[in-house]
Amino acid sequence: MIQTQLYIDGQWQSPIDQGTRAILSPADESVIAQAAEATRADARLAIAAARKAFDGPWRQTTIRDRAKLLNKIAELIDRDAEKLAHLESLNTGKTLTESRTDMGDIAATFRYFAGLVASESGAVNEAPHHVISRTLREPVGVCGLITPWNYPLLQAAWKIAPALGAGNTVVIKPSNLTPLTTHHFTQLVAELDLPPGVFNLVTGGAEVGAELAESLDVDLVSFTGGAYAGESIMKAATGNFKRIGLELGGKNPNIVFADADLDAAVDYALNAAYFHAGQVCSAGSRLMIEDSIYDAFISRLAERLPRIVIGNGFHGETQMGPVQSAQQHEKILGMVQAGIAEGARLVHGGKRPAGDVFKKGYWLEPTLLADVTADMKIAKEEIFGPVITAERFRSEEEVLRAANDTPYGLAGAVWTRDLDKANRMSRGLRFGTVWVNDYHPYFPEAPWGGYKASGIGRELARVGLDEYTELKHSYINLAPKAMGWFGA
Ligand code: NAD
Repeated sequence: MIQTQLYIDGQWQSPIDQGTRAILSPADESVIAQAAEATRADARLAIAAARKAFDGPWRQTTIRDRAKLLNKIAELIDRDAEKLAHLESLNTGKTLTESRTDMGDIAATFRYFAGLVASESGAVNEAPHHVISRTLREPVGVCGLITPWNYPLLQAAWKIAPALGAGNTVVIKPSNLTPLTTHHFTQLVAELDLPPGVFNLVTGGAEVGAELAESLDVDLVSFTGGAYAGESIMKAATGNFKRIGLELGGKNPNIVFADADLDAAVDYALNAAYFHAGQVCSAGSRLMIEDSIYDAFISRLAERLPRIVIGNGFHGETQMGPVQSAQQHEKILGMVQAGIAEGARLVHGGKRPAGDVFKKGYWLEPTLLADVTADMKIAKEEIFGPVITAERFRSEEEVLRAANDTPYGLAGAVWTRDLDKANRMSRGLRFGTVWVNDYHPYFPEAPWGGYKASGIGRELARVGLDEYTELKHSYINLAPKAMGWFGA
């Protein structure tokens, strides 16, 4: 049985009150680990250690030291990639193929930020000849990093790499449902010769996250998760006007015009919505299909759905695993029922798959609800499960208005062969990412984040490093002379 501990000030330790939490397999509800469950008191110790490290030796590191550190972490991820991928699949239920892809992306993220950090040089500003005016980027300070359960280590990497690379110290709090890969990652960091307190792990629930958001000793909180917690973090952050980064939910349109390559569009519609059982913040669960191809498109999806292989993520043939928790399972089924009650047509799924192997665990069939209209709850709220809601549209203007008519603005896609239309739609959609004739690609070089209620700030790309820095104007007068403003 795996047992996890907290990592505070360079030491592995149990929570002060010895709290533990049983970690369950989403595939069969068996206990796979006992995780340390911290309280606010443990979070305070971790924050104090991070503060001490930031105000001490860590400030003296150079960009070269920190780029080297990130590259070393990437090497360790590569070394333990298979072990990490197994832990991620065990804890989240996602297929091993998906977890292996995550580990590759994680190593790439560390390498990307290593390169970026190494290229940081600030700027010399135009100024009088007796003045040196420079714009410098400096670390923000102590960073509280709070991550969700759907991409536990990937989301952590998007925060840890730029935070450490920019010279901050960190306290990370993974979701208490999925702490296992972040715990193993911490074991990798513990192999390195970092000053105590630079990297701290505190596993626990909302109260630990809330302590990070409220603490006056934390300078920045970066949070990925749902809107409800995001709102409370934003409020808590006002205590010291700490910097906040919020990556929240989405209601992401996948828009198919009649002139699209329909073979590709059908295929990608499945990937957009059922990848990781739909538990992706950018999942294209809101499928919007042009009227003239609507019926044919639904038929083609209906034909594909029974062929999606549901099963244990460790089995090679599995294409879709379970959802993460009993709570999610119940919520998704409730959303499907609400959709049917509002008049949507259930084409496929909407229930636990048949068979003994699916009696335990949080299994759901890939679900397709057709004839959804923009006013229905299922067209407005994030479902976060393997559900497509299909809407019909008749014109470009209509679909643009409907797609934008949501509080969210994370990601979306447009399928068409008409480049002019693709460009108009791409410009018109108020989302942080708009794919054309594709779905889901993201990579460290491009920014990630949402408009409107999908969040504040961006991760990845240069902007994702800048979020972890303060800008300083350094002004040095090389030849000071009395000014005489108030006379001699
Ligand atoms: P969640 O909001 O329940 O929890 C996220 C994290 O916040 C967890 O570590 C949790 O313990 C912690 N937390 C909960 N309440 C808190 C509070 N009051 N103060 C501080 N911390 C608190 O989200 P979840 O259910 O783990 O994740 C699913 C959500 O995350 C979905 O809405 C999804 O869209 C979103 N998400 C967004 C992105 C993105 O990039 N925009 C990526 C992944 C997931």
